[in-house]
Amino acid sequence: LARIRDGKHRYRLGVMGGTFDPIHHGHLVAASEVAARFDLQEVVFVPTGTPWQKVGRKVSNREDRYLMTVIATASNPRFSVSRVDIDRPGNTYTVDTLKELKAERGEDVDLTFITGADALGSILTWRGADELFDLANFVGVSRPGVDLRARDISHLPAEKVTRLEVPALAISSTECRKRVREGLPLWYLVPDGVVQYVAKRGLYTPANEGETLAAD
Ligand code: ATP
Ligand code: MG
Repeated sequence: LARIRDGKHRYRLGVMGGTFDPIHHGHLVAASEVAARFDLQEVVFVPTGTPWQKVGRKVSNREDRYLMTVIATASNPRFSVSRVDIDRPGNTYTVDTLKELKAERGEDVDLTFITGADALGSILTWRGADELFDLANFVGVSRPGVDLRARDISHLPAEKVTRLEVPALAISSTECRKRVREGLPLWYLVPDGVVQYVAKRGLYTPANEGETLAAD
């Protein structure tokens, strides 16, 4: 990736965390829109290792989720994928993700964490909440079914948290998984390569249901 590092400009890096089981066009539109509006040079997609919010649920193998994320983002020169979370053992906490990215990318990088409106209000319940706002800015994007305005974010530092209306795509990974189980098509909800990867690996079918997440 082309990076301007002349000492004068800071590098604006977006961070899109998610389980990506599977990655879908809602994720991609959110990342693309935030990149355009906030003039980000790059958005790095970070598939979670063990998402602590999803303990007790079935989640696909992390390498499958990583590869789907690579397939979905490969054609966009501004998109990249990081293994920091899937390579770190234990539960995934955003504070660790941001610290690791900062250590890896250097001090002249400004991080913008992108999250859906459904998760925005609960940032303070995340582990390391006191440090989060020193590490990154947060952008909460609109999501169909979640009222962006109704989410109370008055308890979050206003200069660190922005809400952004993005083109509405009523797609969720939960719905994608359900569609596969019901034999309905995934076409046009996720990138073509992801449709084909899901079929090839038998994801979301009894043949490959992934692992049940245990708390650590
Ligand atoms: P699941 O149904 O399994 O929770 P999901 O569709 O919510 O999956 P995640 O991997 O949990 O996908 O989401 C990663 C991030 O992307 C979250 O911050 C989430 O709010 C956001 N996001 C997911 N889908 C959309 C969408 N359609 N529009 C905007 N943001 C979205
Ligand atoms: Mg979700």
